[in-house]
Amino acid sequence: MKIKIQLKKNKMRKKIVAGNWKMNNDLAQTQTLISDLKKSLPATDAEVKIAPTYTNLYPAYEALKDSAIEVVAQNMHQEENGAYTGEISASMLKSVGIKTVILGHSERRAYFGEDDALLAKKVDTAIKHEMDIIFCFGEELEDRKSDNHFKLVESQLKNALFHLEAAAWKRIVLAYEPVWAIGTGETASPEQAQEMHEFIRKTLADKYSQDLADSISILYGGSVKPANAEEIFSKPDVDGGLIGGAALKAEDFIGIVKAI
Ligand code: PGA
Repeated sequence: MKIKIQLKKNKMRKKIVAGNWKMNNDLAQTQTLISDLKKSLPATDAEVKIAPTYTNLYPAYEALKDSAIEVVAQNMHQEENGAYTGEISASMLKSVGIKTVILGHSERRAYFGEDDALLAKKVDTAIKHEMDIIFCFGEELEDRKSDNHFKLVESQLKNALFHLEAAAWKRIVLAYEPVWAIGTGETASPEQAQEMHEFIRKTLADKYSQDLADSISILYGGSVKPANAEEIFSKPDVDGGLIGGAALKAEDFIGIVKAI
């Protein structure tokens, strides 16, 4: 009986393929890629999302608002508004139709000094604005080599997310992205991904409840390609992927959507 309930819950967990375009694609390239994706997107029970750069969010939203592809933002500022030159607020994103934001990407952490404490503030602001969050985290190669990766991941979750009440977690999707696998062509093996995702789910169960842990989608990110996606997605605790490089080619991204 217990097993049956478990299976049903896991089936209810959202499957997601999200493409993070990073600082790529001008307006014309964005329009072309979107029209290619619209033409070839297969029927799927997974949620499909793309994250173009700020200047292309609104045209992308307009082009996709009647489609199954959601447009999401790559980042946002933690304050409501004011003298923060060059920054974008939650309400600005919402005003152009954006309901989901990626927070904590390793490039934001490494190049823009975003730490767990800042990310906790961004998370709170997004939740206050009823936005959904794809929260990224993951260890560097050194952490893995020194066998510190579980500890590190646990601390990233604790510091940025564990102040949240259980109810807020309906807005959170986790994306485990080992930094050594991002843009390097080196993917975590499906076993390494599963091992970490299982650890993350257990950490959530210990802090909140098994029910909450079972309801959270955990994506893997780091050099996912059409050729390796199916094996990674087949693991029981991997609920989809956050895709960088391979999201920039319609054929590759569609191949990954098919794999789920
Ligand atoms: P990658 O990027 O697929 O190019 O490794 C993943 C990411 O940064 O989300």
